[in-house]
Amino acid sequence: MFVTNHVLAGALIGRALERRPVAAFAVGLASHLVLDVVPHWGCDTSRPGGADQFLAMARRDGLLGLSAMAAATLVATKPARLASVAAMAGAALLDLDKALLHFFGRNPFPKVVCRFHEWVQNESPDGLANEIRFGVAFAVVDAVAAVMARRGVSPERSLAVAVSAG
Ligand SMILES: [Zn+2]
Repeated sequence: MFVTNHVLAGALIGRALERRPVAAFAVGLASHLVLDVVPHWGCDTSRPGGADQFLAMARRDGLLGLSAMAAATLVATKPARLASVAAMAGAALLDLDKALLHFFGRNPFPKVVCRFHEWVQNESPDGLANEIRFGVAFAVVDAVAAVMARRGVSPERSLAVAVSAG
């Protein structure tokens, strides 16, 4: 799934596990694999033009994901900030493979991790609508949760309201 969606899910996890950054990182990491099982966008990079299409989408997604990470960090309440960053980092970590391979020609993850990450993918060229649906839903839930957190509502209560709003 787009790294932006992983980041938006991580922001929510950080809010739920505020003051527990290690747990937030671990749950963020697990959330990556869960989201990658959901049908999402992908293209055949072996066909002509496929690699360029993937790269163009990855560039946009990377910039959007970094922006989402910065925004979620800025709006997080102080007690939730470290856990939010940890959860977003955990949620995005596995997708660093493509960026590191592109820029440095090297994938630092062990082969077994790469194989498992590849195995859980449920991607197709038709998955773009699903990516957008997930992105919008996560962004709405994140925004509602952030507003409620700033008003002093507890994480449990704000998440319950935010999820029902999304
Ligand atoms: Zn992934």
